[in-house]
Amino acid sequence: MAKDKINLLIVDDEELFLEAMSKRLEVRGFNVIAVNRGGKAIEAARQHPLDIALVDLKMPGMDGEATLEALKREHEWLEVVILTGHGSVDSAVELTKKGAYSYLQKPCELERLLEVLSEAYKKRVMNKQKIEEGKMNEILKMADSRSPLDILRKLKDME
Ligand SMILES: [Mg+2]
Repeated sequence: MAKDKINLLIVDDEELFLEAMSKRLEVRGFNVIAVNRGGKAIEAARQHPLDIALVDLKMPGMDGEATLEALKREHEWLEVVILTGHGSVDSAVELTKKGAYSYLQKPCELERLLEVLSEAYKKRVMNKQKIEEGKMNEILKMADSRSPLDILRKLKDME
C-alpha cells in the first residue's frame, strides 16, 4: 500500500454500493479495501494497516455494531465511520458511544463523506502522535535510571 494515501476499509453487504463507493474513493486518492461481510472486515484489518473503516450498520450475520466492537477491540486507534439506512439514526448515535467516530445516513453525498473521512483521518493521525509521544516519554524516563542495554531491550519490547 502507498504510504502517502489514507488506507480505508469499506464494509457493506450491498455489492453494487460497495463497488461504486470504492471506485469513487479510489479516484479521490484513497487506498480502498472493500469487503461485504463483518467477518471479512476483521480479517482485512488484521492483514493490512488501516486508518479508517467505513462500516454499514445493517448486514447479514455480523452486523455493523458487532463489527465496530471487534475492530475497536483489536485496533484501538482505527477510526470507524458507520453508514446507516434511513431511520436508524438512534442506534447510530449509540454506536458513537461505543467508539465509532461518526455516522452518516445512506445515501450520503460524496462531499459530506469526504469531509467526515478527512476529519476521522486527522483524529487518527493525532492519536498516532500521542502514542509516539508516550513512547518517547518512557524512553526519556528510562534513560535516567537504566543501563543502555536495558533500554535497548525495552525498546524492542515496545515495537
Ligand atoms: Mg446493508
